[in-house]
Amino acid sequence: MDLGLRGKKALICAASKGLGRGCAMALAREGVDLVITARSRETLEETAGEIRRETGVTVIAVTGDIVTAEGREAALAAMPEPDILINNAGGPPLGDFREWDRDQWIEALDANMLTPILLIKAVVDGMISRRFGRIVNITSGAVKAPIPSLGLSNGARSGLTGFVAGLARQTVQHNVTINGLLPGPFDTDRLKATVSANAAKAGMTAEEFLKARAAENPARRFGQPDEFGHACAFLCSAHSGFITGQNLLVDGGAYPGTF
Ligand code: NAP
Repeated sequence: MDLGLRGKKALICAASKGLGRGCAMALAREGVDLVITARSRETLEETAGEIRRETGVTVIAVTGDIVTAEGREAALAAMPEPDILINNAGGPPLGDFREWDRDQWIEALDANMLTPILLIKAVVDGMISRRFGRIVNITSGAVKAPIPSLGLSNGARSGLTGFVAGLARQTVQHNVTINGLLPGPFDTDRLKATVSANAAKAGMTAEEFLKARAAENPARRFGQPDEFGHACAFLCSAHSGFITGQNLLVDGGAYPGTF
């Protein structure tokens, strides 16, 4: 299937590794030119080089923290008029809400709610005037089924999801869609970090815990970032203009509900 994206431009936040990288690679394979961001220059440059070599598209690597005003300005300066925006950032820490003070809540809201909203605000009117825009927010399965130890994520990402639910219905008439893509367990550094914290509590090695966690999923495995990237590319495609305000789980069936 030709996704109709050749020659389009995408700004992909937090994309040197993991799910953001999976989205970057999948869009590049469709002929989309990219700006990708991350905080650590070396890994970001490596990823940019790999994507260029494999796909031949233009990839600009912008080092910076997307959660800061400077990081967002640098990303937008490199690509002021993207056709596609993929919002992503690191996830908040695990813990008990009794341990979190106001500053920790503000940090989570900044990263997982306000940064995507500010980036949407910066690009959405241009997309509307050009009559094409695809915005995908990488959130979490926690938006549909809260994860008790990830209260900061449950709260901040639900705030983003609620805001987007309203906006997505206003932009779709201009062929600008906004959707959430909700990862279940994916084989990335983030998963390994959360697993090692939980493994210690369960009295298991990280390897044992990972194995048990993968076996719990109906697919009996973790997802791969490439699979997530393919779902993202479809939501960004020229054929997806009638899909907006949705929250698509990519979780191997982990969410147990019918709807
Ligand atoms: P990952 O493998 O750790 O990759 C995170 C990427 O984001 C890296 O490229 C990292 O590079 C970059 N990054 C993090 N914070 C950044 C910031 N402030 N500014 C710019 N770049 C930043 O993580 P992942 O598994 O792909 O997770 C992506 C998102 O999905 C996270 O919010 C995570 O909580 C969520 N999620 C993941 C899973 C899963 O199973 N993997 C499940 C549910 C939700 P630098 O460190 O160099 O900046």
